[in-house]
Amino acid sequence: MASWPYLQATSADAEDPLELMDQIEALKEKANATILAHYYVNGELQDIADFTGDSLKLARDAAGVQTDTIVFCGVHFMAETAKIINPDKRVLLPDLQAGCSLAESCPADRLAAFQERLRCEGRDFLTVAYINTSAAVKSLCDWIVTSGNAREIIERLPEDKEILFVPDQHLGRYLMEVTGRTMILWPGSCMVHEIFSVQDLLRAKRNNPGSLVIAHPECPRTILEHADFIGGTEKMRRFVAERSQPTKFLVATEVNMIHSLKKTAPQHEYVPVPGIMSSSGETCACNRCPHMARNTLQAVRDCLRYGKPEITWQPYFEKARDVVRRSLLN
Ligand code: SF4
Repeated sequence: MASWPYLQATSADAEDPLELMDQIEALKEKANATILAHYYVNGELQDIADFTGDSLKLARDAAGVQTDTIVFCGVHFMAETAKIINPDKRVLLPDLQAGCSLAESCPADRLAAFQERLRCEGRDFLTVAYINTSAAVKSLCDWIVTSGNAREIIERLPEDKEILFVPDQHLGRYLMEVTGRTMILWPGSCMVHEIFSVQDLLRAKRNNPGSLVIAHPECPRTILEHADFIGGTEKMRRFVAERSQPTKFLVATEVNMIHSLKKTAPQHEYVPVPGIMSSSGETCACNRCPHMARNTLQAVRDCLRYGKPEITWQPYFEKARDVVRRSLLN
């Protein structure tokens, strides 16, 4: 892999967005890099990316990358997955602080202790993890799922095994309903999807007669009960694309998803469902993921310029690789 000789390639002072995009393009070329961007990052990053998608699509896209370097505009566990799939490539995450409240709600040591307790009780179970987990957690699991393939994988699991589902309790509860399988649920949740306000959703429905509600299954049941369509981000895109009649959609997921929906089906109107602050109960704009927001044009330019922050290979990635391949790439 080439060393990082690009430090003089650009002017450090120019921060105009168009100028930043030009710098990124030039640095990307020199670094022989591919940019992957999740639907929850800013629209301008989605526009400059080589691939956009949800976690599953991006994992599969990462598997096909031919360049030496991957810049992952997303959060830490996603970049880890890209590294697990591509051990010989340099995987850069524009900001190492871009974590995920959901992944952090299930630390590997606590999961290992809980699994041990279940085993001591004689429980015969499989551990199924939502992709929003650290690589250390993935290495402790039997299957990895995304909101796009969770139902299909869970329906394939042997009936004589119990299922421990981590870390998203809301997605787990939704999956129990649609698959009919009882599961042991880890009590984790996403800080973004947890805060959607039912009152504001109902008000928005009243104010927008004829609108349809599309909601991510990470939302609590109180929101899903009012949804006309429940699905992960790729399924949301397909749903709006298949509807030719112009429609107003109330969107209950991270607000940057609207950028991708508009590009996919511009005939429709999209209204974000507001969140509510848990501290005060006031309506707020916190349907924006603060971790995804750490991905900026400037951070992408700088990581290409300096060749860091980089996701480095960890010993437990080897074990996580088996389950990631079996679950996501086949
Ligand atoms: S939106 Fe939620 S699940 Fe997605 S990265 Fe942000 S905190 Fe994690």
